[in-house]
Amino acid sequence: HAKENGKNNYKMFSDELAQSTRRKYIVGNELRNAIIRKEFDVYYQPKVTLTSGEISGAEALVRWIHPKIGIIGPNEFIPIAEENGLIIEIEDIVIEKVLRQLKSWNSGRSKALPAAINLSQRHFYQENIVAKFKALLHEYELDPNLVEIEITESIMMDQNPAVITRLHELRDLGLKISMDDFGTGYSSLSYIKRLPIDKLKIDRSFIMDLSDNEDSQAIVSLILSMAEYLKLEVVAEGIEDQQQLQYLQNLKCSEGQGFLFSKPLAINDFQELLKQTADL
Ligand code: C2E
Ligand code: MG
Ligand code: MG
Ligand code: MG
Repeated sequence: HAKENGKNNYKMFSDELAQSTRRKYIVGNELRNAIIRKEFDVYYQPKVTLTSGEISGAEALVRWIHPKIGIIGPNEFIPIAEENGLIIEIEDIVIEKVLRQLKSWNSGRSKALPAAINLSQRHFYQENIVAKFKALLHEYELDPNLVEIEITESIMMDQNPAVITRLHELRDLGLKISMDDFGTGYSSLSYIKRLPIDKLKIDRSFIMDLSDNEDSQAIVSLILSMAEYLKLEVVAEGIEDQQQLQYLQNLKCSEGQGFLFSKPLAINDFQELLKQTADL
């Protein structure tokens, strides 16, 4: 019996592997067409001021709306797009959409609503990355402060000095820089102090078990006090329940994001949410 089961398990595993390899192949092949067919869309997840519950901004998250498969999430296609280089074109679509959206949101709103864009490390290898933002800010007559760039810790280790130079240039333009998934990488404290960073986003893995895991509690407290000393803003990612929120409020964490407040929303739904919570 056991032998049979083992055989079945093996077969299931190899089927799954074949399927996932096939899917990866399909995804890779169809990405190019997806760009041409304009199948990429941007969803927005609100960021919230934890004391008031007010929407303080939004994070732009890319989605691939495949005509047959449906919505494909970024975790599936971004790594492939980073491998084959199409990430640049995909992110260009996101950047353009978000900046255009920022223009329309912020005309006729009393309180500024910034949006954050996730950028691949690979995008910092583009010589024209700074010029690109400059041109779009000009085109949409946007306050650069409204645009936030989310980067990951690995960017700090990049051996190419141009990467850090470009990060500085974007910040000099007036854009805000956030360190995404903070705590999961291997950033040293001296890097954080030296780099042009405005904000730390505490990774969801530390928020997930915040209510009952002492290690996560210690790490989150530590990040918050370090941020205070270094005069950095902090956002807690992945807040899903009231207990986590309470814990973060007690620690005086100022901003958060997570399913407790809202999932990422299609543009129309996000705008509807904004209307409902308008500060008029
Ligand atoms: P991220 O930047 O850390 O974004 C947060 C992810 O966590 C999003 O997944 C969001 O839907 C999810 N999330 C938010 N709140 C909660 C929560 O309370 N619980 C749980 N379980 N999840 C939550 P999503 O949209 O699937 O994006 C995954 C990752 O894909 C992002 O992680 C980001 O690294 C990457 N990504 C998305 N758009 C882009 C892009 O335009 N360029 C690049 N380079 N990466 C992108
Ligand atoms: Mg992000
Ligand atoms: Mg994140
Ligand atoms: Mg994360």
